[in-house]
Order: sequence, then C-alpha cells, then structure tokens
Amino acid sequence: MHPTSLYTGPGRGGRAFLISESCRGEGAVLLDRDERRFCDELQPRDVVTAAIREQMELEGTDHVRLSFANVDPGVVRAHFSHIRERCLEEGYDILSEPIPVVPAQHYLMGGVRVDLDSATSMPGLFAAGETSCNGVHGRNRLASNSLLESLVFARRAARAIAREVPTFDREEP
Ligand SMILES: Cc1cc2nc3c(=O)[nH]c(=O)nc-3n(C[C@H](O)[C@H](O)[C@H](O)COP(=O)(O)OP(=O)(O)OC[C@H]3O[C@@H](n4cnc5c(N)ncnc54)[C@H](O)[C@@H]3O)c2cc1C
Repeated sequence: MHPTSLYTGPGRGGRAFLISESCRGEGAVLLDRDERRFCDELQPRDVVTAAIREQMELEGTDHVRLSFANVDPGVVRAHFSHIRERCLEEGYDILSEPIPVVPAQHYLMGGVRVDLDSATSMPGLFAAGETSCNGVHGRNRLASNSLLESLVFARRAARAIAREVPTFDREEP
C-alpha cells in the first residue's frame, strides 16, 4: 500500500494519483480533522498506512489531510510541480491548503514464486517483474525499488535461459 494517494471523493474510480513519499521527506505532515499530527510520517509505508487507516476509522472519515505548510515553497515549485499541477486540477493548491489523502494499492508483493534465477516450479517457465515473487522485498518493498525485479531478475532469467537452451544466443548484452 502507498500511504498517500490524492483523495478525489467517493465513487470516482480509476487510477489513484500518488503523492510522492519525498513530499513527507521534505517536511509535509499528515493531519487529523483538528489539524493535529497523528503519526511519524517518515515511518515505513505499512506503518504510516496503518496509522492513517486507524485515524480514518477513529474519525469515521474516508481520508486524512497532508499539509505542505512546513515545506519551502521554492522546493514545492522546483520538485513537486507535477503534483501541484495535478492537485490544482482537483481544486487544491498545495502551497496554500492541506490536501485530502488516502492509502492506495500500489504494488503487488508476491505472485508466481521463483528462485534466484527467476525460474518457476514449471520447467522452462520464468517470471520476472511484478508478476513474480522472489522474496527480495520481504514484507515491505522500499520505495523506488521495483527496478530490482524488473532489471536484475529479468537479466538473471535471461542468463538462466541461455544456459538451458542450447540454441539461445549466449552473447552477453
Ligand atoms: C502509480 C505508480 C507509481 C509507481 N512508482 C514507482 C516508483 O517511483 N519507483 C518504482 O521503483 N516503482 C514504482 N512503481 C512500480 C513499478 O512501476 C512496477 O512495479 C513496474 O513497472 C512493474 O514492471 P513489470 O514489467 O513487472 O510490469 P508492467 O510494467 O505492469 O508490465 C506488464 C506488461 O504486461 C502486459 N500484459 C499483461 N497481460 C498480458 C497478456 N496476457 N499478454 C501480453 N501482455 C500482457 C501489460 O500490458 C504490461 O505492458 C509504481 C507503480 C505505480 C502503479
């Protein structure tokens, strides 16, 4: 789960827009309905998500709020211009008001179980990327870490296939 996607109201459906974790890294804070902080925003994703869900349950609401008041406006303009733009489309200016956020499903932890060569239990079938479960992320993938699965494990699969299939081009890329 990603802790902070932009809340756009009930029944809108579609893909949620993620409010990057780097916003909290730069000082954005989560607020309850009384504008008080209720958790340490820099904890891992699952911990922050759990705190938000607990807070929403407590308040009987479907979102909490994220405030950029502590973030230098220059940093907002330089680093979060796309986020600001997207929020403006929904009627919120992150430079002047907190925005509604809610946790969202973001990444599938687990899928087809594979070994370190991306081989499944079926001979000749390999899986790499988000469709595979190689265990490298433990219970909680760190942010910006999916390249590990997409690149490293795809390469390992290619090498294993090259070893298994005699006619496969063995040239290193
Ligand atoms: C909003 C969002 C933000 C993200 N941000 C980050 C980030 O900042 N850093 C990071 O590391 N990760 C991020 N991720 C995760 C990362 O994007 C994915 O984990 C990664 O793209 C997965 O790559 P993949 O090649 O395994 O799968 P995909 O990119 O999903 O590729 C699978 C492909 O298979 C195709 N396909 C599906 N079914 C079939 C079929 N039956 N036949 C043929 N083709 C098929 C699909 O069309 C697709 O092209 C983000 C994910 C989301 C949703």
